[in-house]
Amino acid sequence: MQKIILSKPFEQDWIRMFTHLANLFFEETKISFDAEEDGIYVDVHVEQDSNNRFSGSAQLRQNDKAYWASFEEQVEMNVTEKERARQLKRVYSHVFLDVLEQLTGTTQSWGILTGIRPMKLYHKYRQLGHNCEEVKKILMENHRIAEEKCTLLEQIEKVQIQAIPDLHAIKDEVSIYIGIPFCPTKCAYCTFPAYAIHRKNGRVESFLDGLHEEIREIGKWLTQRDKKITTIYFGGGTPTSIEADEMDALYQTMYNSFPYMDEVREITVEAGRPDTITPAKIDVLKKWGIDRISVNPQSYTDETLKAIGRHHSVQETIDKFWLSRNMGMNNINMDLIIGLPNEGVEEFQHSLTETEKMQPESLTVHTLSFKRASEMTRNKEKYKVADRETVERMMQLGEQWTKENGYVPYYLYRQKNILGNLENVGYAKPGEESLYNIIIMEEVQTIIGIGCGASSKFMDPVTEKITQFQNPKDPAAYILTFEDYIDKKIEHLERIFPEKVTVELDR
Ligand code: SF4
Repeated sequence: MQKIILSKPFEQDWIRMFTHLANLFFEETKISFDAEEDGIYVDVHVEQDSNNRFSGSAQLRQNDKAYWASFEEQVEMNVTEKERARQLKRVYSHVFLDVLEQLTGTTQSWGILTGIRPMKLYHKYRQLGHNCEEVKKILMENHRIAEEKCTLLEQIEKVQIQAIPDLHAIKDEVSIYIGIPFCPTKCAYCTFPAYAIHRKNGRVESFLDGLHEEIREIGKWLTQRDKKITTIYFGGGTPTSIEADEMDALYQTMYNSFPYMDEVREITVEAGRPDTITPAKIDVLKKWGIDRISVNPQSYTDETLKAIGRHHSVQETIDKFWLSRNMGMNNINMDLIIGLPNEGVEEFQHSLTETEKMQPESLTVHTLSFKRASEMTRNKEKYKVADRETVERMMQLGEQWTKENGYVPYYLYRQKNILGNLENVGYAKPGEESLYNIIIMEEVQTIIGIGCGASSKFMDPVTEKITQFQNPKDPAAYILTFEDYIDKKIEHLERIFPEKVTVELDR
């Protein structure tokens, strides 16, 4: 645990901000204000000077070493109190990060950003009317983001706007997420609602009864309000863990319940675990016109798959990919994870070489993150993972390989405790991007979550304020309470999309 002693007390959310920044450099940090304690001492100040500039400075001392940083920024005028506080925090972050970079010799390519959606910031500046060059300058100077990351964001924005030209004008439509919380077994790094599927106790059937009901009720509301659906995404768990006839019945209910199904721009079904894919299930997907699926190898090394508890072989991934392709699945996504236990550059290169033979329409390259609730985090010492330089090298290999194979980056997100403080990037062949992935990452419209663990995001189309709402994760709790959750979701929908009142004028 690294102690950092600040020269003056700050409120809790500021301490959180300093801790997040310090955690980019140290495994765990504790911020304190007790000058008597041993640790890194940081004197950090920001003041508003007579020229209306925020002027920040930081001095860091550890043993006999001292580092100093300063930064100035024009105070933004005509902004809300909240935005002013945000700017102030940015200046504090800037100088705090600067002295920590000097101390550790580590440069953070994402600068002071600790959130998961850097693209949202990019879109925000573009929406404010800045051109690409201006945004780049702001991100590099004010947020300390490295030039290559700014270029990546710029590239992604172009692809997103090409894929969804009305990206910032779909606030009156909604997307739907349907969560099916079962998998053949639980992977070691997983924190999704995923329960090993056991067919004996009727839990799957009871869950599906509730899910059908939720789809019908939400569909009824959308129909009454004449709402259009932009995209539908089946996730989980692994939605292809259920039987082919159960999938068929579910899609039937979806088509019977949701309005304007012929105008939905995309339907995706995650088939992440190759061991769940069968010819009968692909026939069902084809019957309902669904051709975007995910078949997720994660790695092409059998020992790694065993170590992370996936219980399927590399050969099975390859076989199920070709089965899906040959049966007419035209848009297949594959996921790879950088930094899985015992994997280095050689193993990742091997994964890329194997992927090259299949040429999926899209490839998402994740960097392993140690999520708090996962088996891998609880037993961290059991898993040997690559160091920062190796992870960076693998990331570069991924970038180079995707470029050589005609893929473009189209969405990006970061996670807490991600190896090397890097990012997850979705690449796609031009025109094959997942629209749902763009919509959920950029938070441009309401997403209604249906099913277990499904998270809804209700975005007020006027204020753009987002309210999150979570369905129960555990199927047993879902079965007992889903009706209440339907009511609560409809209340949220009524609030953000109030019924239009037509006033008849007396003539
Ligand atoms: S297949 Fe996906 S959802 Fe299922 S346990 Fe593994 S990581 Fe979790």
